[in-house]
Amino acid sequence: MNSMEERGEIVIIGAGLIGLSLAFELRRRGARVAVFDRFEPAKAASWAAAGMLAARTEEIADEPMHALCNEALEGFPAFVERVREASAIDPQLRLDGIVQAAFDEASLARLQERARSLAAAGIAHTLLDARGALALEPALASNVLGALLTHDEGSVDNRLLGRALLAALARMHVQVATSEEIELEFDARRVCGVRTRWGFRPAEIVVNAAGAWAPHVAGVPEVCRPPVEPVKGEMLALAMPHDFIRHTMWLGGCYVVPRTDGRLLVGATGERVGFDHRVTAGGQRQLLDRVLQGAPSLAGFALVEQWSGLRPGTPDERPILGPTPREGYLLATGHYRNGVLLCAQTASLLADEIEGGTPIDPAFALARFAENGAAVGA
Ligand SMILES: Cc1cc2nc3c(=O)[nH]c(=O)nc-3n(C[C@H](O)[C@H](O)[C@H](O)COP(=O)(O)OP(=O)(O)OC[C@H]3O[C@@H](n4cnc5c(N)ncnc54)[C@H](O)[C@@H]3O)c2cc1C
Repeated sequence: MNSMEERGEIVIIGAGLIGLSLAFELRRRGARVAVFDRFEPAKAASWAAAGMLAARTEEIADEPMHALCNEALEGFPAFVERVREASAIDPQLRLDGIVQAAFDEASLARLQERARSLAAAGIAHTLLDARGALALEPALASNVLGALLTHDEGSVDNRLLGRALLAALARMHVQVATSEEIELEFDARRVCGVRTRWGFRPAEIVVNAAGAWAPHVAGVPEVCRPPVEPVKGEMLALAMPHDFIRHTMWLGGCYVVPRTDGRLLVGATGERVGFDHRVTAGGQRQLLDRVLQGAPSLAGFALVEQWSGLRPGTPDERPILGPTPREGYLLATGHYRNGVLLCAQTASLLADEIEGGTPIDPAFALARFAENGAAVGA
């Protein structure tokens, strides 16, 4: 028996990519784990996302977040391979690079500057003139002035990844259950367990991975509530011929992500409108206007899907990872725009903390909000 097998059960609240990846990692290390969700597993932000793995193209200025995203990107292929082996489902990882296209002089100058900083950091990339950009992606508008291809990043099919994790967890005998009633129980010092429709279940550790809903999990003391707020994103999908667009591309104001099933995802809007997740005429018009400006030949393709999701946003756009003022109660939430990219890295950091007490970088701790004098609460 290893040390994880000897310990009490670990309960994870929320079955998005963050909760499921953590359950997968903990179970691999021998822990007893159960996951509870109030709704259908793997159907919230983790289903709605575009699945881009854009650690470099995102140009994250915040140093701890930059480092976290780059480590996440490096570890992603091995994680996908483990999930694929454990589930027999291929989440379609593509790391053939992300293209950023420029349609005006100012954007072109920014791409040139960006290419210089990538070169200085030793990150593989190709700066293309207009002709090179059109040769790489002929669907780009003819007024394109140039493009930057950042190698070794790309996308994963996040819906397939969710399904693969669920299949892997089923094979590993990890319970992933839906219960309308989920309430945590605490004593003055620590978390005691969770009450669901099946009754009380004691737990040594409870991890809140409830995404945009993390501050609203019932029964949690005020001092442990993370300042997470939903940020709505709308998306749409077009049906396109095979390889009509080959790379994930940023077109200035929107992005496109090709899927192997023939869909081209177009995203995304960003709005702070609470838990309103309606797909709106205005949001869809914004996406269509922008994508057809960057790639007008898409106009004739069928619009096959429209949806939205709620990103878990935080005041400083960093996730909130690790301990809270109540012993045994941990957070893994607030992944905002990068939760797909960060799911495996989050799982590994939380599992290290739980298994061996290896502390997570305090830059991601809940305590950073209290120290800054900001309110910790919903
Ligand atoms: C339009 C859009 C595009 C995006 N694109 C990308 C991208 O390209 N790349 C990227 O890396 N990230 C992207 N993201 C961000 C990414 O989707 C999120 O950061 C990530 O999915 C968060 O995962 P999660 O598991 O924390 O949350 P979720 O997937 O939202 O899961 C949270 C789960 O908690 C459950 N829950 C809620 N309340 C309770 C409760 N009280 N008890 C139990 N369970 C509860 C919910 O039902 C849900 O299943 C995008 C997001 C959106 C919306």
